[in-house]
Order: sequence, then structure tokens, then C-alpha cells
Amino acid sequence: MKNYTIVLAYFLLLTPFLSAQNITGFSSENADAQRQLESQIRNLIDPDAFKSHLYALSSEPHIAGTPESQRVIQYIGDAMQSAGLEVNFYDYDVLLAEPGMVEITLELDEPLLLQNREKEYKQDPWSSHPALTHGWNAYSGSGKVSSEVIYVNYGRLEDFQKIDSLGINLEGKIVLARYGGNFRGFKAKYAEEAGAIGLIIFTDPANSGFKLGDIYPDGPFNDASAIQRGSLLTLDYYGDPLTPFEVALPLDHPDSPVRKKIEEVALPKIPVAPIGYGAAYEILSRMEGQNVPEDWQGGFDFQYSVQGGPDLLVTLEVQQEREIKRITNITGTIKGRDFPDEWVIIGCHHDAWTFGAADPNSGTAMMLSLSDVLGELLEGGWQPKRSIVFAHWDAEEFGLIGSVEWVEHHLEELMAKTVVYLNSDMSVTGPNFRASGTPSLHSAIMEAATAVIHPDTQLNLLEYWLRGSQSEEPSFGRLGSGSDFVPFVHRAGIPSAQISMSGRVPVYHSAFDNLFFYEQFIDSHFVYGATLAEYYGVLATRFANADIIPYDPLRTASVLEQKIEEVTEIAGKDIFEATNLPELVDLLGEQAGFYNSLLNIFPKNDGLRDENLQQLNSILIGKERQFIVEEGLEFRPWLRNVFLSPDPLQGYAAWALPAYRYAIEMNLLDDLYHMHKTHQTHTQILMDLIISLSELNELMR
Ligand SMILES: [Zn+2]
Repeated sequence: MKNYTIVLAYFLLLTPFLSAQNITGFSSENADAQRQLESQIRNLIDPDAFKSHLYALSSEPHIAGTPESQRVIQYIGDAMQSAGLEVNFYDYDVLLAEPGMVEITLELDEPLLLQNREKEYKQDPWSSHPALTHGWNAYSGSGKVSSEVIYVNYGRLEDFQKIDSLGINLEGKIVLARYGGNFRGFKAKYAEEAGAIGLIIFTDPANSGFKLGDIYPDGPFNDASAIQRGSLLTLDYYGDPLTPFEVALPLDHPDSPVRKKIEEVALPKIPVAPIGYGAAYEILSRMEGQNVPEDWQGGFDFQYSVQGGPDLLVTLEVQQEREIKRITNITGTIKGRDFPDEWVIIGCHHDAWTFGAADPNSGTAMMLSLSDVLGELLEGGWQPKRSIVFAHWDAEEFGLIGSVEWVEHHLEELMAKTVVYLNSDMSVTGPNFRASGTPSLHSAIMEAATAVIHPDTQLNLLEYWLRGSQSEEPSFGRLGSGSDFVPFVHRAGIPSAQISMSGRVPVYHSAFDNLFFYEQFIDSHFVYGATLAEYYGVLATRFANADIIPYDPLRTASVLEQKIEEVTEIAGKDIFEATNLPELVDLLGEQAGFYNSLLNIFPKNDGLRDENLQQLNSILIGKERQFIVEEGLEFRPWLRNVFLSPDPLQGYAAWALPAYRYAIEMNLLDDLYHMHKTHQTHTQILMDLIISLSELNELMR
């Protein structure tokens, strides 16, 4: 093993002993003040405040661009205003879609209209809310089509390849795909590319229905009527479909950009609609073709078939308007006392497909509870050293639109000023503390987790996270796609994390993501929401108040080492053989280990003066942007982070070292010129990182 792995182990061993008094990046004196602040936050966080925000936010369906959503925007603005934050609204005019009409008919002797609304339950008063819509997928094509059906499992690339290898032609057929396995937009894209004329996406009982446990409203799993709504956007860029790389300023704004025409954008052309498994049963159980491959069988106990047969005709009609509408992000800022131009940003979207009790507004309520508390401290004379910004994004559900437009709007400024972005989308869904994010944040996230007690036990959140695990380290996920961290990580190169109290929400994007579900199956006493607010308070104020921003470069080096191995394995040969990348990663690890040991003795090092610290922090912030390449990644120039990208083939997942992954997928490994260029870019980035770290070490000594 490489020697810095040993340094890492040493560092981890040491940390628990030090952490009794010390907080990484704080002088001893400031650490005491920080601990005091944290206990004030702990005392002020109130589950009832969380509850009342959640009730106010989730009392009616509030899809982006609607009057109901406008009320939520107003509520968030008012709440932060009265907490004493500096509130700003950011309007953009972007392409959204409307539910329109969806009708799916089984052409039997007596035509059978399939159900596409959720059932109403007496126990759940929200389920009969008059503003609930039928099931729909945003940006579906419009039209009425009729044909026999073909089942394509999850509708992943490999599923369509399988269909092809079975000799089945999808030309002119309606395709039936189950949810799961990839982002739903790819199901539509691949179906359309295969010549299908329509797509029906269903929830299978095996993936989130009765096969897993008690169903709604007796249990949390989907009943036969629950429908997962959701967007179908899969463009080469994120945000507003009509203004790639530009800011979708309001149409009447003097700098409003020239927009693309809707016809110029690669939106789905075929009609697409989602259904629950009750409706899916009506189709699946009547299909009469060949048996599906074994792993395509879903949760019903009859044998699934690939073809429906020529006698089983389905008619699918979708009429959907795509329209430019106004969306609004809201930010609330607490100005930093010493470094107002260094920002700690916490963000969550506010729009929802239905009530959004879990997705996203458990996160919104968590943020508002915390901004209440920090506002109260502000009133008492407290101020963080750096600024803390609470950002509430609009139209995430349509394609991360609000956050992307805002990042595009402020790109240079954000890159210069942002210390960290903490995403809290859908962040309270159960008792399990979880985090994903940029490696340089892992240590700070873990350390902050030792400062908060889990409400169900006497364990702190880190201990709870590690419960039952053999490992001394919790596992961190990577940030691929699927929420508002995307523009921060992949376009601006800002270290980001998504941290949550996590559980399961099988009814995600259905009418049952409401307060009845939340209280019954997630957090009856609203304590997980309050605990997470306390945790975000601790973590955000640590980043805001630290003398030295607590990034951990050793994690970056060690994850890079792993990724080089991972990519080598996927390539099936040593693609780094002719380069010095592995050696550079070693060198980076050495410098980073040295940096960490200096950081560890920092509390006792009073030789560091304020101007050193200021210089140190600005190098630290700059160093975190070094994975960004100006011109963007070759396969998708909107993405600019060479460390990580969303998987362009499946959606939610992530690619580490994406330029290499792309070269593997596209068979470019033998293209010497191409590989030389790729190696060169990565070599330069690593050398710059090493230089930054040695500068830091020079300053720290
Ligand atoms: Zn969400």
C-alpha cells in the first residue's frame, strides 16, 4: 500500500482523541466558542417549528409554475424575512409542461379505461385533495397511438439490446417498461430510438409494492393505484431546455437571451405516461408472448411475457402543453462578519409533483427550522465569520431548472466565493444518517456527526451511522445526478454534499407523498427533522467559522488512487502505464498527509497570523476548483469536472474520471493522439494540485 494510506490511518486514529477538545481547522479558543454556539443551536432547535413549517409547505400540491407553488414561494420568503435574514427572489422564465390529459385504454370487447389517479382513503384526508392531478410524465410527446405491446423490463440500454437479440422489432409498437434501473427519461429516449410509438412506465410490485411489505395506507409500500410522476428530460445540458449555457432571465428583462425554438430541442416525440401496478396488471396478465428472461420477471405471480400478442391492443393518448413559465428561487443570507465574500450555501428545491411532504419539503422545513434558529442568534448579536446562504430552488422536478439557472447566472462569483454547497433535497425520510459528497468534505462531515446525538439512542450520529458495520469508516456515496448539487459539482467544481436522515419513500412522486405518510411512516414526532436541522447547523457553522476551512486533501488523493484502479479494471488493461499519473497521485498523497499533520497541530501553532490564514483559505478555495476544465468534457461540454460526471447512459449514477470512462465506452483507448491529450489534461491538473498543497504547507509551517 502507498505510504499516505498509512498517514490516513494514523490521522484517523488520532482524531477521536483530539476531538474531545479540538475541532479540525479551529484554534483552541475558537473551538470553545464554536462548541458553545453548537449547544445554543441544539437548545433552540424545535421539532414543533419543523412540524409547523412542514405543514405549511405541504398542505396542497404545488407543481412548479402554478399559483399553489407561488404560495409556497411567498411562505418561504416570509419565513426567512421574519427570521431576520436578507431575502432575495430570483425569477427565470423557463420551459415547463402541464399535466394535460392522459388516457390509456385496453381495447377489449368492452374497452377498459385504465386507472391513472391514486385511490382516495378515509384515513388519509390528503388523498382526496381536489388539486391532485392524474399521473403524467413531464415533457412527454403528444398524440394518440394504438398497437400491441412489448415489455422491455427496466428499459435500460442493455434491456433494449436484449430485445434486439431476441429478434423483436419495436417499430410501431407501444413499449411497457417498469420503474427502476435507470432514470425514466432514458426509457423514453431508448424506446423512441428503437422506433416505438408510445411508452407506458409502470410501478412493479417487486420494486416498491406488495412484494416488499404492507402497502399503503397500512404500510409504506405502494398500493395498486400509486403512480410515480416525473420528468423525461435527458438533454446534453441541464436546466431550462431553451437556454443552454445561458441564463433564462425573464422574457421582459433587457438581457433576456434569445431562446431556442421548442422544435430545436431533443424532447420526447412519442407519448409517454406512468401507471400504477393495478393498471399494469390489466395489461401484463393478458400478454401471451414468449416468457421473459428470468431476471425480467416482476412481482406478480403469473409468468411475464415479452410480447402482448396481436390481439391485445392498447391505446395511449397524451395531450400535453409545453409552455414558458415563471419560476422563482429564494435565498436568505446571513452576512459573514469577517469574510462576507466566502459563502456556505445550503440548498433544497421547493417544488413538488404533489404535496412533497418528503420530496422535497422535509428538506425545506429542516432549512427553515435552522434559519429560524440562526436568525434568533443573529438577533442576539451573533454573526458567523463567513456568510451562510439558504437557497430554495424552483422547478427541480422538471430538470434541476431553478438551481442550474442560478448557477449559470452567478457562475464566476460562485466559483470565486463558495466554500461548500450542502444539498438537502428530500433529506428527512427516516432514522438513518447518510451522506454522499466530494471526498475533501468527508472528514468534516464525520467529525460534525460526532457532535449530534441520534434521537432514538444515546449514540452520536457517526456511531449510529457505523452501527453493525465492520468498517471503521462509513461509506460515502458519490454525487452523480438527480438533484440540485449537479450544477455546483459538475459545472462549477464546488465541493458539495447531500446529507440526510434517510429511510424509504416507495410512494415517491405519488399523491401519497403527503403529511399522512410522513407522520405515519417517517417521523411521527418530527425528531428526525429537528436532529438533521441541528446537524446542518453544526456543519454549516463549522465551515463558516473555521480559522482554516476543514477540507481534507488526503481523501481526495486516496479516492483518486481508488478511481485509477477502478478505471483500469473497467478498461481491462493498464491505460495509465505510459503516464506518471499514479506517481503524481502518490505525490499528492504525500503532500496531503503532510498538510493534514500540520492542520492537526494547528490549534497549538500560534505562529499563523490572520493574513496567513486569509491567504491559506483563498488557496484552499481555489484548489477545490482545479478539477474544472474551462472547455468542458468532450462528450458533454456543459459538464466540466474531470474528477466526476453523471453517467450519460443511465442517469442517476456517476462516472469517476469521466474522460477515461468515455474513452473506454467509445473504444478510443488505441487512439494515441486522443489518449495523449487526455493524459496531458489530467497530469496538468494533478501537478497544479500538488503545487497548491506545497504552497499551503509552506504557509502552515
Ligand atoms: Zn426532490
